[in-house]
Amino acid sequence: MTSTVYAPHDHHTCITAALANAKTLCESRGARLTPVRRRVLELVWQNHKPTGAYELLPQLAQDGFNSAPPTVYRALDFLLELGLIHRISSLNAFIGCAHPGQEHTTGFFICRLCGNALELSPERMQDVNTRLAEELGIVIEEQTIELSGLCPSCQLAATTAKEDIA
Ligand SMILES: [Zn+2]
Ligand SMILES: [Zn+2]
Ligand SMILES: [Zn+2]
Repeated sequence: MTSTVYAPHDHHTCITAALANAKTLCESRGARLTPVRRRVLELVWQNHKPTGAYELLPQLAQDGFNSAPPTVYRALDFLLELGLIHRISSLNAFIGCAHPGQEHTTGFFICRLCGNALELSPERMQDVNTRLAEELGIVIEEQTIELSGLCPSCQLAATTAKEDIA
């Protein structure tokens, strides 16, 4: 099964859903989704590629927000804390969470060609953790799983390109 992240889709639907989820989550937690926090979330969701904090600055400035780095970092911290976004350590960048509102084990696949990142199934990730913990008798406290390679569309594009040359 190909994830929608790697297939052409109406991305507007992703953004709309993310913003609606954020609104509901903030209301249920009594947190305030201020205009700058909402805009930062929207910018992180502008595509499925991880976004660096510094990429957000010029866009916020253009929208007339205070685009000083501390403002942006505070908004990102707020979104991280609520679980609306995740940090991709290997890229020092942020990505919208596919399952906001519930505590979950995270893992990502990032395509090295198109740059789109897919959040791996939390159930699968948890399953691997549980098995490893049992097998090895270890306690896993933190994890950073960031796989990289080629997504289905980029594999297809690579094969087609090779055929064109031949
Ligand atoms: Zn999308
Ligand atoms: Zn998530
Ligand atoms: Zn790709």
